[in-house]
Amino acid sequence: MAELQSSLFCCPVCHSAVLESPVALICSDCGKAYPLVDGIPCFGDSDTFYEGRWAQPDSSAGSLRNRLVKKERFFVNGLRGRRGRILDLGCGGGWRLFATVGHSVGIDISLASLQSARRLYDQVAQARLTAFPFADESFDFVVSSDVLGHIPLTEKDATLSEIYRVLKPGGLTWHYVEADGDDPLMRFAKGYPELYTRHIVEPEGHIGLEPAGSAAARFERAGFRIAGQVPCYRGLTYVGRFVQYFDNGFKERSLFIRLLVLSCKLATIAGPIELAANLGMSFLIELGDRILPERWAGGLLICCEKP
Ligand SMILES: [Zn+2]
Repeated sequence: MAELQSSLFCCPVCHSAVLESPVALICSDCGKAYPLVDGIPCFGDSDTFYEGRWAQPDSSAGSLRNRLVKKERFFVNGLRGRRGRILDLGCGGGWRLFATVGHSVGIDISLASLQSARRLYDQVAQARLTAFPFADESFDFVVSSDVLGHIPLTEKDATLSEIYRVLKPGGLTWHYVEADGDDPLMRFAKGYPELYTRHIVEPEGHIGLEPAGSAAARFERAGFRIAGQVPCYRGLTYVGRFVQYFDNGFKERSLFIRLLVLSCKLATIAGPIELAANLGMSFLIELGDRILPERWAGGLLICCEKP
């Protein structure tokens, strides 16, 4: 067994160096063994909900779509001109944009996702987001998109303190966090708790939503300095998402919802029409994020610095 000189990985329990055998990484201190599955170090257990669910790699890195979709533009702008070692949390199949920054590492719970992501990233590992397999101050940047809303409220502080721990002082972290919007549509949806759970929470795994303001306060409590934040998607989203959420039992409850779903479905019947509709929505989202109440935000774009 040899110590992994080139590897960033360490024991997620005690943060000691790991030794490599042909079939596992073994902690040099506590002796815990982490299997290598198809060459991927596995520090956490897999999860049937996540396995293979978001395995599609995204090979864009500043495309037109990246500039039009607000949450994607946030990462494109934030990372522009930056160079350093980057960690993508809940990386799914990976996003080429992150790999362009420098030595790129992805962690996720799904092995199928990691098998895709390793084609884009320098290193990947299966790990839980509450115990990272990296030493303190290993990264210049940490990113996550559409991930923190999947972490239960009781575990979120552990994730943020892990982000803090593995960032270098002065390191930056960007996140798109799904938020619990208190807009009229979501208030309507929550009036039917069973439908809300079945059609809005469960399909996406959004078991850890909280208001955008609470999500931001959590970063401050963890010791970060907030460099920028935008509570976004205030009651508005792209047309396909409305269909996904409401083209079901909700339609029987409201004529307005029925008309909304019908018009959004018409807007998604052909690619060019959907593109035009979403361009219109992008404009409305920008406008809404300036004039609608902050508590309506269905998402939070946040950039923080470790002092
Ligand atoms: Zn250990």
